[in-house]
Amino acid sequence: DGYGITVLTLFPELVEEYFRTSIVGKAADRGALIPKVINIRDFSQDRHRSCDDAPYGGGAGMVLMAEPLATALDSVDAKARHVVFPTPSGRPFRQRDALRLSRQKEIVLICGRYEGIDQRIVDEYVDEEFTIGDYVLSSGELAAMVVIDAVYRLREGMLRPESVLEDSFQDGLLEHPHYTRPEVFRSRKVPEILLSGHHARIAQWRREQQVIRTARNRPDLLQNLSLTEAEQILTES
Ligand code: SAM
Repeated sequence: DGYGITVLTLFPELVEEYFRTSIVGKAADRGALIPKVINIRDFSQDRHRSCDDAPYGGGAGMVLMAEPLATALDSVDAKARHVVFPTPSGRPFRQRDALRLSRQKEIVLICGRYEGIDQRIVDEYVDEEFTIGDYVLSSGELAAMVVIDAVYRLREGMLRPESVLEDSFQDGLLEHPHYTRPEVFRSRKVPEILLSGHHARIAQWRREQQVIRTARNRPDLLQNLSLTEAEQILTES
């Protein structure tokens, strides 16, 4: 059976285009993925099809109203499903969350807009709130697509298991660098060790590269890892 992904949005074209492309699009063709895009505006109660109103308590910006969103959510039986709301005030979205969500049967994503959505929708329908990073996007579609993409590529049959295991974060470290032909590109040579055919030494070199990269770009990740003494020294250079 296919993995159900339902997206509630004010910009359906944007999400539909995504579902047509990439590995996600191919999976949809095979029936491995059952995508559904719901236009929140179709559930607006007023004749101007408006979905936003001014915030109680005052302040800048508008708020996505509860009623159209609730009706849209009910139309897909969201209370019986796992509902994810990408928002800057959520928990950081991590590879392990992607793995967990990939084991659900289906997910429903709400794309926010304006200053955000009426809190009562969060309280009544939402199971998890995620941020995709410490910056603010103008609306939730890109964040929802980030979540879908990370989740869906982990579904069984989508990728070779080794390629998932080698990804950044799977072992708590960033990935090692990759090289392919030619051996010399604009006078830059592929590291000698990779041409040696010596698997154990290659594995060790890659691991060292992972440690060096992580220490340089994401020292925060190293705090939760136990490194060997030799690896510890690499992080200090
Ligand atoms: N006033 C909100 C705040 O400061 O947290 C920002 C709202 S933002 C302009 C509109 C919508 O974009 C949000 O409701 C959310 O759905 C989405 N969004 C923006 N940045 C995001 C992020 N870093 N992660 C996930 N969703 C995000």
